[in-house]
Amino acid sequence: MSGVIEGDSVSIGMLNQLQAQFAKDRDWDQYHTPRNLLLAMVGEVGELSEIFQWKGEVKRGLPDWKEEEKVHLGEELSDVLLYLLRLSDICGVDLGKAVLRKLELNAIKYPAKARKDIKKKEDEIEKSTPVDNGTD
Ligand SMILES: [Mg+2]
Repeated sequence: MSGVIEGDSVSIGMLNQLQAQFAKDRDWDQYHTPRNLLLAMVGEVGELSEIFQWKGEVKRGLPDWKEEEKVHLGEELSDVLLYLLRLSDICGVDLGKAVLRKLELNAIKYPAKARKDIKKKEDEIEKSTPVDNGTD
């Protein structure tokens, strides 16, 4: 499969088909109930969280991480995504449509101009707040 499918050409539909075939080939459809898939996904979120646990804040792009840590991160992110996709597929939710709709709703709820206004207000407050340099 690798070498044929590049990351940018992966679609939700393709992943859904691969997941469905994977489950069918192993006779796992019987276990792929919404509740089971949700709980499995939550378990994978826990595994993802373990990777970041006790590291403190990390830099974007993870420049200080070893290659094997990044590979492991990719595996756990994939586990979460695969269960999320399977859950939405089993529930009959078109996740592609749902996510685009949600992005539109988010854009309405959080207009870009409003964010700029909030940032301007935060900057004004910061400038007017006396700095406590701890010398008192
Ligand atoms: Mg995992």
